Amino acid sequence: MSLRLQALKNLTNSTTEVAVPFSPKITAIFGENVFTLKTAREYLSDEGYKSLITSIKGGRKIDRTVANQIANGLRAWAESKGVTHFTHWFQPLTGTTAEKHDSFFTIKSDGTSIEEFDGAALIQQEPDASSFPSGGLRATFEARGYTAWDPSSPAFIMEIGNGRTLCIPTIFVSYTGESLDYKSPLLKALVALDKAAVDVCNYFDKNITKVTPTLGWEQEYFVIDEALANARPDLVLADRTVYGAAPAKGQQLEDHYFGSIPERVYAFMRDYEAESYKLGIPLRTRHNEVAPSQFECAPIFEEVNLAVDHNTLLMDVMSRVAKRHKLKVLLHEKPFAGINGSGKHNNWSMATDTGVNLLAPGKTPKTNLMFLTFFVNTIKAVHDYSDLLRAAIASAGNDFRLGANEAPPAIISVFIGEYLSKVLSEIEGRVGEKFDEQDEAILKLDLHRSIPELLLDNTDRNRTSPFAFTGNKFEFRAVGSAANCANAMTALNTIMAETLRNFKKEVDELIDKGEKKEVALMHVIQKAIVESKAVLFEGDGYSDDWQNEAEGRQLPNVKTTPLALDAMITDKAKNLFKKNGVYTHSELEARHEIELEKYIKKVQIEARLMGDLATNHILPAAIKYQNTLITNVLGLKQIGVAEETFSAQREMLDKITEHINTIKTNVSLMVEARKVCNNMTDSREKAIAYNTEVKDKFFDEIRYHVDKLELLVDDTLWPLPKYRELLFLR
Ligand code: ADP
Ligand code: MG
Repeated sequence: MSLRLQALKNLTNSTTEVAVPFSPKITAIFGENVFTLKTAREYLSDEGYKSLITSIKGGRKIDRTVANQIANGLRAWAESKGVTHFTHWFQPLTGTTAEKHDSFFTIKSDGTSIEEFDGAALIQQEPDASSFPSGGLRATFEARGYTAWDPSSPAFIMEIGNGRTLCIPTIFVSYTGESLDYKSPLLKALVALDKAAVDVCNYFDKNITKVTPTLGWEQEYFVIDEALANARPDLVLADRTVYGAAPAKGQQLEDHYFGSIPERVYAFMRDYEAESYKLGIPLRTRHNEVAPSQFECAPIFEEVNLAVDHNTLLMDVMSRVAKRHKLKVLLHEKPFAGINGSGKHNNWSMATDTGVNLLAPGKTPKTNLMFLTFFVNTIKAVHDYSDLLRAAIASAGNDFRLGANEAPPAIISVFIGEYLSKVLSEIEGRVGEKFDEQDEAILKLDLHRSIPELLLDNTDRNRTSPFAFTGNKFEFRAVGSAANCANAMTALNTIMAETLRNFKKEVDELIDKGEKKEVALMHVIQKAIVESKAVLFEGDGYSDDWQNEAEGRQLPNVKTTPLALDAMITDKAKNLFKKNGVYTHSELEARHEIELEKYIKKVQIEARLMGDLATNHILPAAIKYQNTLITNVLGLKQIGVAEETFSAQREMLDKITEHINTIKTNVSLMVEARKVCNNMTDSREKAIAYNTEVKDKFFDEIRYHVDKLELLVDDTLWPLPKYRELLFLR
């Protein structure tokens, strides 16, 4: 019996409900596996605790003796929870997380064995890093890299089965200091943003000394039966179905959205949520998404670095917990053709240490001017650097999603809602007019009123925008579901830092010329509105009209990853990232190289899968059925039945034969095309060739014929679980 039929049989017979531990209150378990400040207070000396706090706040270095104290405290806490091993936990550019477990256990010089964790082991480690992607960096500079403790993200305990490991969040850098991970440039971008934003905040409030960007991500994902998934090599190896005819019922009824959550999935959700709560991930919402078997979860927002760690951790936890439930989580951006893909909306704002959300309209004219300043600067940043945002979300997976069903297009535009559009055009309309301090334009900024209107807008048109203002934050929606949000957040916070700094320079120049502060601010805001209004779009982002209009506005619309990545290595990008202390030129070039390589490998793997599945799974089934038809036709002929009475069989036979031939021919041609690509040495050229000569030329063509066969061949012979089975059976 084929894996497919076995999986289907087991699914119908299965009654497996995994017992999920019941916790009456989330607060009872929340953060129990995290070395929170409260726990730190319990386990650390005054000196250790104080030192930890300063390094969390100011990124100050911790000296060795204090590090020893902190390490001891951490070990004592971890051991009280049954931990035997520790690991530096980091986010290499492969897109997953990495760990290397070491035990506390060690043997002293006199032969006695003890459990030990010293400051040196806490602060720095040297994982064998040679197999992580480095884009040539380590080869050029140094052979090895090291991980270094990031005190701003608390240590946590990962429970896997009965094993418990103390995880220390770290950055991963080469010996000469080049970043090799997602976290280190992000931390640098946050520092740049903090500095630039505080300087601008001080126009309005001298008490503000720190600005922390905030992030609330919304994670979309699919959940399917594990046995069915395992019967599909494409899902096993690529997280995506490369074949599959559209089911009779897709998402047209939209009956999945906000429908009740299926029981088996519900148990899985409760289980991974409980795990997440223990790790301090503040999940808040869960619901069905539009596509069948698609779901979403979202946390309460946190400061960006922590939110990024929590999202990475969550993706890991979800995948592991799903196994317990014999389910498989698909984080891929487009696991199924013809229905919605998955994104990871990045809700982003900035918070001051005085408790103000800089993207929330205030109640007084003065706070509104501060809001307007940050609001308009964000629009300007997105306008000026939309190519970098596009590059930051580029991946082989996201290429299938952007511009497809219910997904934002590859054009980066900003939605701000009707009311704020009006406010901006009024300000813009006064170009050339003078403002004065008592000006209506300043005093009458009654933006508070706009919130209810904005929320109305939210339910509707802004859904189609890749970057939408949603009342008190911007929502960057083009981010892919499998992505590490750090990439998008590094770009966004850096371009914002740069834009704010330039803004301040211009305002200061006007003030130096004797202009009143408010008037100077209004003038520069006005200028920014004029310069960036091309990026504002309130219409339907999914429409073809918008593609044309965007072209007229000269907004970039780069549809594929290899070309979108070009933006990373322009002089503009290099200067920007260098000036803000985020990436050196060589780091950017290395990252560009790594992203290209990732793209090439992904397309290469999918191309191989398509060839393998066609040759070893699809064609044998089709030929078997072809033989059945041949036998049938021959038999009918033999017993003397008239030709026209079995014309249906003949027709089916012809069609099947034609599809078989076309598939075989194209698979061979695709292999040849791959060989040509593989001989290319320049990564960019190779990535472009993989896109146009392999993916574009063959993927859809081969798939078309395979999917046709699926509709013709005897169902019991078909080897791969079908869409209706993957999407509708649980
Ligand atoms: P929805 O988009 O479903 O209407 P919300 O707008 O309430 O839901 O929130 C979506 C996400 O935005 C949540 O993760 C939430 O925590 C986050 N969010 C809310 N305010 C902020 C903020 N100031 N900064 C960053 N994220 C935020
Ligand atoms: Mg939202």
